[in-house]
Amino acid sequence: MKLTIGHMYPDLLNLYGDRGNIITLKRRCEWRGIDTEIKSITIDTNTDFTDIDILFLGGGSDREQKIVSDDLTLKRAKNLKSAIEDGLTLLSICGGYQLLGKYYLSSDGNKLPGIGALDIYTIAGNKRMIDNIIIDASIDGKTFKMVGFENHSGKTFLQNVKPLGRVIYGNGNNGEDGMEGTVYKNTFGTYLHGPVLPKNPEFTDMLIKKALDRKYGKNQLEPLDDSFEHLTQNAIIKRFAKK
Ligand code: GLN
Repeated sequence: MKLTIGHMYPDLLNLYGDRGNIITLKRRCEWRGIDTEIKSITIDTNTDFTDIDILFLGGGSDREQKIVSDDLTLKRAKNLKSAIEDGLTLLSICGGYQLLGKYYLSSDGNKLPGIGALDIYTIAGNKRMIDNIIIDASIDGKTFKMVGFENHSGKTFLQNVKPLGRVIYGNGNNGEDGMEGTVYKNTFGTYLHGPVLPKNPEFTDMLIKKALDRKYGKNQLEPLDDSFEHLTQNAIIKRFAKK
């Protein structure tokens, strides 16, 4: 079996170790004998996303988001939206997450359009939400804790779409309604940087499984020894969850 991982805008959206998410996906596949190919997709790359099994978009500052917003909305919106509707497995973080929604209104009053694949919108607030974050994630009836690091001023509000989880510690989508991230079909948006996947093996495996199921039919993922990952996760939970 082989999965092709598309890394969108690695030169523009790559904050707080986002690239570690690609390395983690690749490693956890390799440990199970699943081949991977990494394809970088940036401003001049031609793709209709049909050759991609897992797509990743990281976070970025407002300046980079402006460049990405233009490229996404002018060149890629139609193909990307139809891939998402078709069940593409997609992980987006912070700045990338915001641009899958309807728009991001930045603090200087610039309204950056998103592709509107997610029924969400984002408005810059006047305080930066910088902290560790712990959530109770809930996906396909399974619940598990996730930990990460967030740094954003954008406040994201969900409309007709589900959150990825509930905030236990930190801010999440907007610091107001206790929700974090978004799930729509096999597309996920979250504010968890850090990078998120090395610290959250359940979430990583769920992405890999969704991509394998879509490509090869139902699959059972061989379990890995995640004791080290859980030690790091528990250290964060112990330190912050009861604050
Ligand atoms: N510029 C966006 C915000 O502050 C995204 C930042 C990020 O990707 N970390 O909301």
